[in-house]
Amino acid sequence: MNIAIDGPAGAGKSTAAKAAAKRFGIIYVDTGALYRATGLYMLRCGADPGDPDEVLPLLNEVHITLRFEDGAQHIYLNGEDVSTEIRLPEASSASSAVSAIPEVREFLLDLQRDIAKKNDCIMDGRDIGTVVLPDAQVKIFVTATAEIRAKRRYDEYIGKGMDADYDEILEAIKQRDYNDSHRAVAPLRQADDAVYLDTTEMNAEQEADAVCDIIIARFPERMQWT
Ligand code: C5P
Repeated sequence: MNIAIDGPAGAGKSTAAKAAAKRFGIIYVDTGALYRATGLYMLRCGADPGDPDEVLPLLNEVHITLRFEDGAQHIYLNGEDVSTEIRLPEASSASSAVSAIPEVREFLLDLQRDIAKKNDCIMDGRDIGTVVLPDAQVKIFVTATAEIRAKRRYDEYIGKGMDADYDEILEAIKQRDYNDSHRAVAPLRQADDAVYLDTTEMNAEQEADAVCDIIIARFPERMQWT
């Protein structure tokens, strides 16, 4: 069983997907982490993550492994656990830049499909329902206004004791929305057969419930999982 959740940054995909994965006993795969790790590697090498001439020669040095420990995904870049570092704002911008390069997307495609083939999973990203898993049994497109998404990010950073500036976060979110939906290859868009879920007025729990309800409606015979 494969479930695809797509949507823009900060829509709450990962929180809802994690909750659903736990409830149905399947794995949660965060594909943004793959782009983040690739972007991080470029930053570490001093390369411009948006410049294919600088990124492509380095791609064959990028070895990414995902491990699922206690239901949580850990991402290893050349053997090093970078699960925390990839969340830094610089890695967010770098991930968006590398993700526009078609060869980078191609490079990460097999890895994503391979995981989905071997595991029952709920996978989140931007192009899961449209490109990575066009045959997923359930597709959900989650979104919310840019302002509420920025507020959620802001609260998350403050909650972790980090410095945060709401206006800067909002600007970065709008920039990523623009990049992700205007790139030529696999832009962010709702698959024709995806269920649309606007979470602007929902809290995390309500959003998780809404996602689980969509999955149960598709697989009523699996109700006993809940
Ligand atoms: O989901 P997250 O915000 O961690 O993703 C980081 C970046 O990776 C996104 O802004 C997007 O540019 C890219 N991405 C993508 N396709 C995916 C997942 C993420 O292009 N399936």
